[in-house]
Amino acid sequence: MHEQTNLVQIKNRWQTELIESVTSVEELIMRLNLSPKLLSQGQKAALKFQVRVPPSYIKRIRLGDPKDPLLLQVLPVREELKKNKNYLKDPLNELNHNPKSCVIHKYQNRVLLIVGSFCAINCRYCFRRHFPYSQQHQNREKWFSALDYITNRPEINEVIFSGGDPLAAKDSFLSWLTGRIAKIPHVKRLRIHTRLPVVIPSRIDDELLLWMQSTRLKPIIVLHINHPNEIDNSVKMSLRQLRKIGICLLNQSVLLKNVNDRSDVLISLSEHLYNCEVTPYYLHILDPVEGATHFHVDKARIKTVYSEMQTALPGFLLPRLVKEIPGELSKTIVSLND
Ligand SMILES: *Cc1c(COP(=O)(O)O)cnc(C)c1O
Ligand code: SF4
Repeated sequence: MHEQTNLVQIKNRWQTELIESVTSVEELIMRLNLSPKLLSQGQKAALKFQVRVPPSYIKRIRLGDPKDPLLLQVLPVREELKKNKNYLKDPLNELNHNPKSCVIHKYQNRVLLIVGSFCAINCRYCFRRHFPYSQQHQNREKWFSALDYITNRPEINEVIFSGGDPLAAKDSFLSWLTGRIAKIPHVKRLRIHTRLPVVIPSRIDDELLLWMQSTRLKPIIVLHINHPNEIDNSVKMSLRQLRKIGICLLNQSVLLKNVNDRSDVLISLSEHLYNCEVTPYYLHILDPVEGATHFHVDKARIKTVYSEMQTALPGFLLPRLVKEIPGELSKTIVSLND
C-alpha cells in the first residue's frame, strides 16, 4: 500500500483529501499565516520524518498562532534534532516481537497487525516514527502467512489492526482481510486503532460502513484524539454514523507537553468524547522515541494533572493512565503514589 497506488485509483472523497495533504513545512507555514522564522528549523527535522497534514485537520488549527495545540502535534521543529540517550528509535522494542512480517505479538490473547504502512497525518511524537514499514512487505502471500500465525494460536481471540493507519488502506483490502480473519473460529473481536475518522472524517463512508457492519466479528474502534479542538462538526457526524451501526468507540490520548498537559483541557476532552458516545480508554505517558524529547511531561506535572482529572470526572470518563514497559505482558497502569 503505497501512496502511489492510491494516486492511480482516485475514487472516494477521502482519498482525494489524502492526496491534497500538505507535505512541506513551507506550505504549512504559509497556509497558517505563521512566521517564516519557523521554516529553516522545521525543514531539517522534516527530513527525518515527513510533514503530513490533511486539509480537514488544517481547518481546525488557529491562523497565526504558533502555540496552537493541534499545530504543535504536526509542525516539525528544531528540538526534534536533539539527541538524548534515553530516547530510542524503537522504544517499545517492537522489532523483537515481530515474528512475521506485519505481525507484532506481545500480549497473550491479542495480536497486532501492521495493516497500514503510512498515516493520513504525521504526529511528531509518534513512537513508530522510525518503524521500517518498507521491510514489512504487504503482499497477499505475507498476509496468508500472518493468517496462519493466528490460526495456529487458539489463545488469540482479538486481532488489532494498527499501522501506520489501517484505515489508510482501501476498503476492498480491509474487507478481504476481515473476511479471512472471521473464518478463524477462535477470533472474536476486531479492533481498529486509527486516527483517520478524526483527521479525515469523510473516511467514514458507505463502503467502510458496509464491511464493518457485515462481519461476524465484534468491531471496536480505538480513536486517537489528544485535544478537544480536534472534534469539530464533521468529526461528530462521522462518529455518529459509526455508533449508528453499533460500533464500540474508545479513545486513547498521549500526554504531550504544551498540547494537553493541563487538567482543564483533558477534562474538556473527556466531556466532548462523552457527547459523541466515545469512552476514554487510555491516557498514555509518552514513549521515549528519538525526536520527541520536547513533548516530555515531568512526573510531578503528570500527578497534578491526573489527580485533578480524577476529582472532576466520573470514573467512566477517566482514561486509565498507562505506560508501556518493554517486556511486560500488558500496558502498565501508572500509580500516582509511585
Ligand atoms: C497496546 C498494544 C495492544 C493492545 O493492548 P490493550 O491493553 O489491550 O489495549 C496489543 N498489542 C500491542 C503490541 C500493543 O502495543
Ligand atoms: S496517526 Fe498514530 S501511527 Fe500515525 S503518526 Fe500519528 S501517532 Fe503515529
